[in-house]
Amino acid sequence: MCRIIYSEKYNLYNLGPEHPFSPLRVEMVIDLIRSLGLNFEFTEPSAVSPEELEAVHDKEYIQAVEDLSAGKEVAGFSKYGFGTQDNPIVKGMAEGARYHAGGTLLGAKTLLNGDAKKVIQFGGGLHHAQSSMASGFCIYNDLAVAIKEMTNAGWHVAYLDLDVHHGDGVQKMFYSDGEVMTISLHESGEFLYPGSGWVYELGQGMGRSLKINVPLEPFTEGDSYLEAVKKVVAPALSWFRPDALVIQSGADPHFSDPLADLLLTAQDFEKIYREVITLADKHCKGRALFTFGGGYSLTATPRIWALLYLILKDIPVPEKLPAEWKEKWEKKLNKKFPETFYDPLPAYDEIPRKPEIVRTNKDTYQRIMDSVAADWL
Ligand SMILES: [Zn+2]
Repeated sequence: MCRIIYSEKYNLYNLGPEHPFSPLRVEMVIDLIRSLGLNFEFTEPSAVSPEELEAVHDKEYIQAVEDLSAGKEVAGFSKYGFGTQDNPIVKGMAEGARYHAGGTLLGAKTLLNGDAKKVIQFGGGLHHAQSSMASGFCIYNDLAVAIKEMTNAGWHVAYLDLDVHHGDGVQKMFYSDGEVMTISLHESGEFLYPGSGWVYELGQGMGRSLKINVPLEPFTEGDSYLEAVKKVVAPALSWFRPDALVIQSGADPHFSDPLADLLLTAQDFEKIYREVITLADKHCKGRALFTFGGGYSLTATPRIWALLYLILKDIPVPEKLPAEWKEKWEKKLNKKFPETFYDPLPAYDEIPRKPEIVRTNKDTYQRIMDSVAADWL
């Protein structure tokens, strides 16, 4: 059984009408699910308290965020990462971020209590947030809050970051933690924000060889990406055997994403999600907590996250997108959607299968496995 977590309060996390991290993306997914005639049932979280955030964030930073969010003056706010295009100062942002963290935390508690083995949190995934700094649209690190809850209960946790950007905030918070494995698949930091996530970032101390980074070439397509899941993620989970898997399911590796350059199709996402679920069943005691994350193509992200929902709910993927939904959003956004959940075949066929990209990625997968070989005995 898969539990869904959501709150309308997530909409408080609205960084402005022009900001890419728009709540509209989630609204579109829920509207799509309802347009299929399905009953969108969810459990509503409460917001985490500022005190609960101290598990992963500095007290001083939390106070600064809460003050800025309430419209108060904060001296030197730029040192906390605010006042940038990515992280503008917006009223109510702290409460919104605490609701997102509350949702992911509720996901962790649901797994811990044994109430469900699979959870989708229809929000969260704020993987760039650091202990004392906002970064890359992210204020409070909901993923870290959830992971910490599970390790405090004695669990080992693996974190898999499918977002096209490196999951730097989560990695940093658990860099020397022997109970947490982090694996991030992303477009290489040579070309994309945040510029980190190299193969040699392996963790330190007790966390050594537990932090795995897969920097992918720009224009990597689905098959080469899926190979990373099979050649790196599968052996990592099989070796670590965690008590739960937390997945940041950013949809921004899609070919139409405006912020990045990978070339995955909706069909690829379906294959990847199915593979990840199989791995969770095989190596992670069947427990998986999926969050959303990045994903800025409004014509792709709702289809991809709806696919994740359908797969986890064990509902067959309908042949077509509901006409009513398609028309409504085409009008609202002035954009064209494909007829189905999948991307049309011509677009799929046109994706260049550049042998050198596939080869470079293969070398990367091998380098990762060589780097950890001595520790993964
Ligand atoms: Zn992203």
